[in-house]
Amino acid sequence: MLIFLITGTLIIFVAFSYLRLPLTIWALGYFILLLVTTLLFESGMMTRITLWTIYILFFAPLLVPFIRRNCLTKPIFAFYKQQLPTMSLTEKIALEAGTVWWDRDLFSGKPDWEKLLNYPSPVLTDEEQKFIDGPVQEACNMIDDWKVTHRDYDLSAEVWDYLARNHFFAMIIPKQYGGLGFSAQAHSAVVMKFATRSVTAAVSVMVPNSLGPGMLLMEYGTEQQKEYYLPRLADGTEIPCFALTSPEAGSDAASMADHGVVCYGEHDGKKDVLGIRLTWNKRYITLAPIATLLGLAFKLYDPDHLVGDDDEPGITLALIPTNHPGVHIGNRHKPLNVPFQNGPNSGDNVFIPMDWVIGGRDRVGQGWRMLMECLSDGRSISLPALSVGAAKLASSTSGAYARVRQQFNVSIGEFEGVQERLARIAGLTYLMDSARTLVLTALDEGEKPSLLSAVVKYHLTESTRTVVNDAMDVHAGKGIMLGERNYIANIYDCLPIGITVEGANILTRNMIIFGQGAIRCHPYVMDEIRSVTEEDNNAGLLAFDDIIFSHVGFVISNIVRTFLLAVSNGHIHQPGMNRGTRKYYQQLMRMNAAYAMLADISMLILGGSLKRKENLSARLGDILSYSYLATAALKRFHEQGHKHEDLVLLKWSVEYSLYQIQEAVYGFLDNFPLQSLAILLKRLIFPLGRSYSPVSDRLNSEVAHTILSDSAARDRLIAGMFMPDDATEQVAVLEQAFKQAVMCTPIIEKLRRFARENKLQSKNILDIAREAIPVSLINKQEFEQLEKLIELRNNVIAVDDFSTDDF
Ligand SMILES: Cc1cc2nc3c(=O)[nH]c(=O)nc-3n(C[C@H](O)[C@H](O)[C@H](O)COP(=O)(O)OP(=O)(O)OC[C@H]3O[C@@H](n4cnc5c(N)ncnc54)[C@H](O)[C@@H]3O)c2cc1C
Repeated sequence: MLIFLITGTLIIFVAFSYLRLPLTIWALGYFILLLVTTLLFESGMMTRITLWTIYILFFAPLLVPFIRRNCLTKPIFAFYKQQLPTMSLTEKIALEAGTVWWDRDLFSGKPDWEKLLNYPSPVLTDEEQKFIDGPVQEACNMIDDWKVTHRDYDLSAEVWDYLARNHFFAMIIPKQYGGLGFSAQAHSAVVMKFATRSVTAAVSVMVPNSLGPGMLLMEYGTEQQKEYYLPRLADGTEIPCFALTSPEAGSDAASMADHGVVCYGEHDGKKDVLGIRLTWNKRYITLAPIATLLGLAFKLYDPDHLVGDDDEPGITLALIPTNHPGVHIGNRHKPLNVPFQNGPNSGDNVFIPMDWVIGGRDRVGQGWRMLMECLSDGRSISLPALSVGAAKLASSTSGAYARVRQQFNVSIGEFEGVQERLARIAGLTYLMDSARTLVLTALDEGEKPSLLSAVVKYHLTESTRTVVNDAMDVHAGKGIMLGERNYIANIYDCLPIGITVEGANILTRNMIIFGQGAIRCHPYVMDEIRSVTEEDNNAGLLAFDDIIFSHVGFVISNIVRTFLLAVSNGHIHQPGMNRGTRKYYQQLMRMNAAYAMLADISMLILGGSLKRKENLSARLGDILSYSYLATAALKRFHEQGHKHEDLVLLKWSVEYSLYQIQEAVYGFLDNFPLQSLAILLKRLIFPLGRSYSPVSDRLNSEVAHTILSDSAARDRLIAGMFMPDDATEQVAVLEQAFKQAVMCTPIIEKLRRFARENKLQSKNILDIAREAIPVSLINKQEFEQLEKLIELRNNVIAVDDFSTDDF
């Protein structure tokens, strides 16, 4: 009987935990087990009474609310309150902002693959596609990026005018106000295409469409403000900028010293106008040197209580015309070699009327909340688009250059070392583009994915750093020598810019992704925090009681799932995917259960100190981020119709991500303060040691060939990048040379064989070809094709030089 009981208990425990069944089903399961045991086996009355007493003593406190609340919930509630780290108001607002989407599944330990695959696929409307093929192509053709970056230090007046006239600064403004009213997918596609031509142009276009006056007016402006400003922003009459950062307040923007005091003053010839007297000093502000409309963030004080009861209503946002008396627009900063307009601005005791506050008097003191709520839109679009544009340019040109450029008589793309770099360029581009489009789907679905926006901002800008460095290595001297023929140096120059704007990446990785994500996206933690911080203690206790035991069940379930998924190498999970991709879903499910378990255990053990253990928090964030990236790649492969040629790119993406996840888990556990627990957890997650290896040489070679050959996989990978209409431009010449090299490959192979057989290896390929014509190995047309290739190749490998006067 004992063996039956123990076995039954264990089976129910493991199965019900794995399936995450509710407590009532557990009670029913054990009730049936006890009933069957007492019916099947002869046992004494005492034994039966003991068994049923244990059953009642275990389940009654959990299932009877009165007993549960008083005996269990109350002490846990008190402990939780004590453990909760103190949170500033700005932190609270940041946590509450935005919505959760696929990130919630990634925190669940049991992501729903059907849900992922059923999210809509990215699409552009005909109108959006026409805009990209028309005005965007035209604007890109008009830009001479060498002149912009090294001669004029600005876009030409003609380009600025074209951009304004064609509403490039109003992609997010609805049509009713004269804007383009584009979807997030279209908006991102425009910025991405510009990034493959000129980062200066891309930044100039993306900023007015990102977090700034336009977006804030649409979300919070009064009707009067919208009616006045939105049409002016849409037709380019107003050039906006948004000033948050100041010398003392960078990453910690909320600590700004810029301030305003509510008072009465004179405005437009009228006396006693209610308004604000402002003093500020901002820097790093994009578009400020040419802006006509300054969006300003400052701390508001109201000592005479003219707008409310509060002495310090808090951060407030206002729109100020830059020609308003007292506004000082300073000189220009020089952001590396990417000369978009950026500079400081300041004002000293400048009086503005109250109706210049965005949203009017009702919105005073709500600036931080407004910024946090809108942050995810810009963060999901601008920098990811810029990053993926750079990666697409790197993929297209590095693959092509490696095919065209020859050393030691072969294309450099045939060397394993170069292939490793090309694979990383192509694989990361696939991963990055997948992550970009998935988060845009969320935006177009009406979500404001605050956590995912941080993930894509951080990982896409960081991955660009890897991709572009690899592209520089593949191009070697060709990438270093500046001039019109260098198409890669400009994206190299922009790398740290993308990383620094919108808060530098160290902060994003170490504090924001897991720090905010763990609370915001966790199925229970946010509600628990709300309940323990509830002013009415009783109401808080009741709310806490509703969720805390589900949370305990969730933790137990994740521990059991982690172990079962680990010992079965993921096979206990059988998703209905085809055989080519099923193992990836299984492994990601396995890592996801482990992640959910680690997240809870670390919060339980480290409590508030996790906030200061930034490196641990960062590694948990990495696990989450790579899970997002890998699932985005699976989603892309699925929505593009499981194209066989793309399978290697998918494999690379998921295997790379799984390896990064594994290393983050090890890094986390190796540095976890409670080492005895860490060792146990390691055995639970990886019972036989590490499960994943770095991408193999063979897979690297296969992936490199997707961009070394003129394939449909390459076309899909670089789709959306700009190709100049002028065939003499260097990127266009490279593309022609690449296609010519692919076409000439069989001819060259014939000639190399011929050269070996006739000991002609020391001759150049054209001389070998001349000797091959008389013996009819190649014909005249083939010779001409080869000649054309050599001519194009010479053009591609050439670099610019300058006279001393030029310098
Ligand atoms: C080209 C460019 C354009 C910009 N455009 C605008 C604009 O239009 N409007 C605007 O308002 N601002 C703009 N900014 C400002 C930008 O948002 C800030 O540069 C950014 O927030 C970082 O501030 P900081 O440069 O002063 O760095 P600091 O705050 O001095 O940070 C230095 C380093 O410390 C790290 N760090 C700080 N705190 C922590 C922490 N708690 N944990 C871990 N690491 C931490 C940071 O990640 C960073 O690596 C722009 C910046 C640049 C470079």
